[in-house]
Parts: sequence; structure tokens; C-alpha cells
Amino acid sequence: MSDEDNGSSRRQVMGAVGVGVGIAAAAAALAGRAGAQTTPAAPLPDGAPKISDPRDKYPKPPFKQQRQPWPGLASKMDPKPDHGELSYKGTGRLMGRKALITGGDSGMGRAAAIAYAREGADVAINYYPTEEPDAREVIDLIRQAGRKAVAIPGDLRDAAFCRRLVADAIKGLGGLDILVSNAGRQQAHASILDISDEDFDATMKTNIYAPFWIIKAALPHLPAGSVIIGTTSEQAYDPSEDLYDYAQTKAATMNYVKSLAKQLAPKGIRVCGVAPGPIWTPLQISGGASPQKQMTFGSDTPGKRPGQPVELAGIYVRLAEDDGSYTTGNIYGAGGGKGQP
Ligand code: NAD
Ligand code: MG
Repeated sequence: MSDEDNGSSRRQVMGAVGVGVGIAAAAAALAGRAGAQTTPAAPLPDGAPKISDPRDKYPKPPFKQQRQPWPGLASKMDPKPDHGELSYKGTGRLMGRKALITGGDSGMGRAAAIAYAREGADVAINYYPTEEPDAREVIDLIRQAGRKAVAIPGDLRDAAFCRRLVADAIKGLGGLDILVSNAGRQQAHASILDISDEDFDATMKTNIYAPFWIIKAALPHLPAGSVIIGTTSEQAYDPSEDLYDYAQTKAATMNYVKSLAKQLAPKGIRVCGVAPGPIWTPLQISGGASPQKQMTFGSDTPGKRPGQPVELAGIYVRLAEDDGSYTTGNIYGAGGGKGQP
């Protein structure tokens, strides 16, 4: 709704309720009307993508309590996250491109991997070795899309592995022009006193050092027209009290996107970020959210549900495709209405 529309509907409501009724009453009337809205969608031509009501599109809390050992498997979650396996349709937007995605086995990384392959890109994914079952499903889906799939398991907290990852991806794909630094570690702790030095270090290594090592290794191989995409978070802008360590790494990600975009623009390389709100992924059920938060996950958004990874697939495609050539140093959000970024 534009500001102008908003202004005129507010005026209509003010007229309907009469002079002398306060702004609070008018706002309540507007909210009530929006909540009861039942206008049917106009009929669509055959084969057109359907318009769906975002409120009812995906599962809502309460969710069953479930806890998996880190880093968790999407295939064991209930309900299973939707990464676009059955729904994402490509139209050749990334034909011939070559992408490396960290954390490509599940969550946002998997949604990006499926979408990239269906848009015509060859895709290498990195994941932690215990995530092999999720990774195998993604490798199969990339191959079913008719694209080359490269699986590179390993621990991103290890600098030598990060350098080998880039070398193996370039070798397997025959080059690289999309780098999605998406892997992340999130472990919730009610108090800073509960965060051990080892845990703090693991979060910093995964979320800050690994992108540094990987981008450094990749840069000399990226041709003009390439893009680097980091997954940041709403936590970069509005940190939760129990994510002291994680939230600051996401602020660092948001920040490196903006710095590196300036540094690399003269080379013709774009750097962008994606900032999800609460999304239903293994990260949340393997220590990322407290049991209470996990069961009510997404209920604090205006739409009263978490997002699904597939709801961000198009953003990763948009940022990577050639049409996005003026988008650099920018962060795209999918925040469910909480307003970040
Ligand atoms: P996810 O668990 O599906 O993905 C995270 C991935 O990180 C894992 O699959 C794993 O492969 C990888 N990873 C973590 N530590 C690793 C290590 N040491 N070595 C190798 N791989 C490792 O969860 P997700 O939510 O899709 O997370 C993807 C990104 O989205 C993360 O950067 C996360 O911070 C960010 N994010 C998530 C949410 C959310 O609500 N789920 C919100 C905002 C941002
Ligand atoms: Mg995973």
C-alpha cells in the first residue's frame, strides 16, 4: 500500500467513525478491517503462478519440541522445511553460471542450490561431514535439474580446509562466478556467562573467519560480473538477548558486505547480503533457539509464523543474476514484517 493509499483509507475510516474519535480507535478499525479482509483474488490465466495468502502458506506454531545434535538434519525435522524441492521453477536466469554455496545441504543454502541449478547454474556445495544425508538429497536435485553438482564436505573452522574448498570447487566446476557464503553457527545462551571460550571461538571462526578465508582464496579467480553473497540476519540490526555472540557476527557480515562492495566495484565484482528473519531450518533445532522459542518459533512476527527457506530462494537468484548489476553493497531482507533491514 502506498503512503497515498494509506492516507486516503485512513481518511475514509476517520469519516466512517465520525469526528472526535481518536487515532487509536481509527488504527484499531484499520487493523480490524485488514484482519477480516476476504476480497477474493481475480481469476488468473491458465498456467499463471497462483497468488497465495502468505498467512496460510506454511506451517505455524506451536511446533513439536524437537532437539537434534548440532548441526542437525533438515530431513529429520517435523514439519520438514520447504526448500523449493517441489515448487521452484527456473527460467534460465543463471544459465552457464558456476556457484559455490557453503551450508548448501539445508536451509537457505539448500534453497539457493536448488534454485540456482534450476536456473541453469552448476553448483558446488559445502557442508559439515555429518550432514551427508541432507547433502546427498541436494546433489541429486542439482543433477535432476541437468546441472553439474560438486559435493565438498569439511569443517569451515579450519583455514586450510577453506582454501582447499575453493580450489576443489573451481576444479570441479571449471571456474567460479557466484560465491554464496551462507554457512553459519548459532547457539543460544541465556547469559554471556554460559558461553565458553571454545563456543565463542567456534561461532567467530564459522561466521567471520571462514568467509574471510574463502573470499580471499576465491577473489583471484572471480571474473568481472561475479557476485559474492553473504547471509547476514535481522540479528545484525535488532539483536536478541540470548544471541550475544551470534548477533555480532551477523552485524560483521552486514558490514563486510558494504565494505567489500566498495572495494570490489572497480573490479566489476558485486557483493550483496541476505538478511532473513526467523526461518524454519536445522540451525534453530540444534541449539540455535531455546526449546521454548523453538516451539513458538515465528509467533513474534506480524504474520505469526516462521519463514521457509524457499521464501528466500528468489532473493539469492535476484542478487546473483546479471540483471542485478546495479545491486551491490545492498542487503535484501525477508523478515516476515518485523522491519529488518
Ligand atoms: P542450516 O542449519 O540449514 O544451515 C547452516 C549450515 O551451516 C549448516 O547446514 C552447515 O552445513 C553449515 N555449517 C555450520 N558450521 C559449519 C562448519 N563448522 N563447517 C561446515 N559447515 C558448517 O540453517 P540456516 O538457518 O539455513 O542457516 C544459513 C544461514 O542463515 C546462516 O548464516 C544463518 O546464520 C543465517 N540465518 C538463519 C536464520 C534462521 O532463522 N534460520 C535467520 C537469519 C539468518
Ligand atoms: Mg545443514
